[in-house]
Amino acid sequence: ENLYRIEGWGQPYFSINAAGHVTVSPKGERGGSLDLFELVNALKLRNLGLPLLIRFSDILEDRIERLNACFAKAIARYNYPGAYKGVYPVKCNQQRHLLEDLVRFGKPHQFGLEAGSKPEMMIALALLDTPGALLICNGYKDREYIETAMLASRLGQTPLIVLEQIEEVQLCIEASRQLGIKPILGIRAKLSTQGVGRWGSSTGDRAKFGLTIPEIIQAVQELRDADLLGCLQLLHFHIGSQISAINVIKDAIQEASKIYVELAHLGADMKYLDVGGGLGVDYDGSQTNFYASKNYNMQNYANDIVAELKEACAEHNLPVPTLISESGRAIASHQSVLIFDVLGTSDVPSGAPEPPQEGESAIIRYLWETYQSINEENFQELYHDAAQFKEEAISRFNLGILRLTERARAERLYWACCEKILAITRKQEYVPDELEDLEKIMASIYYINLSVFQSAPDCWAIDQLFPIMPIHRLDEEPTRRAILADLTCDSDGKIDRFIDLRDVKSVLELHNLKPGEPYYLGMFLNGAYQEIMGNLHNLFGDTNAVHIQLTPKAYKIEHVVKGDTMTEVLGYVQYDSEDLIEQIRRLCEQALLDKRITIQESQRLLQNYEQSLSRYTYLSS
Ligand code: PLP
Repeated sequence: ENLYRIEGWGQPYFSINAAGHVTVSPKGERGGSLDLFELVNALKLRNLGLPLLIRFSDILEDRIERLNACFAKAIARYNYPGAYKGVYPVKCNQQRHLLEDLVRFGKPHQFGLEAGSKPEMMIALALLDTPGALLICNGYKDREYIETAMLASRLGQTPLIVLEQIEEVQLCIEASRQLGIKPILGIRAKLSTQGVGRWGSSTGDRAKFGLTIPEIIQAVQELRDADLLGCLQLLHFHIGSQISAINVIKDAIQEASKIYVELAHLGADMKYLDVGGGLGVDYDGSQTNFYASKNYNMQNYANDIVAELKEACAEHNLPVPTLISESGRAIASHQSVLIFDVLGTSDVPSGAPEPPQEGESAIIRYLWETYQSINEENFQELYHDAAQFKEEAISRFNLGILRLTERARAERLYWACCEKILAITRKQEYVPDELEDLEKIMASIYYINLSVFQSAPDCWAIDQLFPIMPIHRLDEEPTRRAILADLTCDSDGKIDRFIDLRDVKSVLELHNLKPGEPYYLGMFLNGAYQEIMGNLHNLFGDTNAVHIQLTPKAYKIEHVVKGDTMTEVLGYVQYDSEDLIEQIRRLCEQALLDKRITIQESQRLLQNYEQSLSRYTYLSS
């Protein structure tokens, strides 16, 4: 269990059962669990091939419950005379089934939605039917966006239009005048508090969004002149996603609460404070400020927000605001698990090499002697010798002095030296820098039925770490150390960074493949941002997805969203399947006329071609 750290990142949803399979407890501690391996097999019987994205709607519900419970507890603990009304940022995962669930699960908490763009606002407007829930309108806006948001109030929605650019102030003033609607306006501030990690540049004077302090003053003035200062009721900030250190959150809230108080003093009718996203996910389970983790929990987060606002408002005799957070990652990550299979493996040669033969080149003898002499005292020095001899063998080969078979022998001996040295370094407490890559160089390559670009784009684009592990055979010692190579013919289509305790490791411990038996891996906590940012590199399309809900006795499949077929994917790049088939048919006819193909072969080819077009873009194993 410790190997994959599931007890850290998996809590309370994922664990390992006595059969050595991953178990999912979608309701957390509230009970009920599923054997993930058995679930995958059952789904395969329903013709749902891998790769397969499984969404557990109960996990989504549990995340919403947890977040609201943490704020409720903080509000009670600090006697906060106000409320919390969270919103879910649609950008994090816009899939319809997920959003419909989310709105439904959020009803008891008046949980709302945040739109970061005009198309997202279209979704939010249509889906959000919870009385009293907030509709936060962020992102760049044009007049149409602003008008639509304002008119939404006539439908019973509570839209809050957040001014992100100074130009939007006049747009709002004009729209308000024309429609005769007094909107609720907010300001997104560019805080000086610096975020941390991958998204640290979301804040500061040069951040992409938000108003600087002088612009905030200008906006207040313009609204006052238009007699709309009373509409300014919200202050918003967002210091980046996945904030790993709690002190950064505290600093931001402190700065924001000062601005909030000042806005009230300037005459705005302040009622809401929106702390944006940033609530982190513990991908490696280390509970540290490492970027793939966070050194605080949801309760600490809620406590700090509530306590700071209570104090800041009390100091200035101001009513406290309704608190809003836009947590996306913390809500959506856990609910989806991506299951994929291993198609095959490749290894560097291993095992004891043959000693040199009579008449073989001296370089082979030197490598053999190096191989034999390696021990715990000299392994670092002899690693250099072995590398040098191998280079020399290649130079000699290029000069025509060494034959191909001899080069093969030299390379084989070099790998044997590396294998021996690696075995020694694994026992050492300290591994010299130059030998650190040895593990990666000697790793097996496991070929996975997946496109990293489609299903885990952040792995490729920003070195994001997701927990990855086999979902079965966990009662067996894994004997291989591997990196994962995907189906794309792109050398970036690989995963060679895996979670470790507060660190990254370059290989994943895996099991030997057994002939005729599938080997399933799971990628966890990847429900946020990955699906929509995935791309069609090499024309691998959307994967199959299913929504699973726990029932008192077992589970039910709520929705099946079939992955793209080849026809669909080819359609995205303007190919028509019928035209393609017709073209192949013509080529077959010509080949028949020229007697280059038999009628049986041409029929087989056409049949395969037609069938493939209606099939999944991934390989069937
Ligand atoms: N709010 C805004 C304005 C954002 O830009 C983002 C994403 O970065 C979020 C909320 C969601 O952040 P997270 O997923 O870290 O909760």
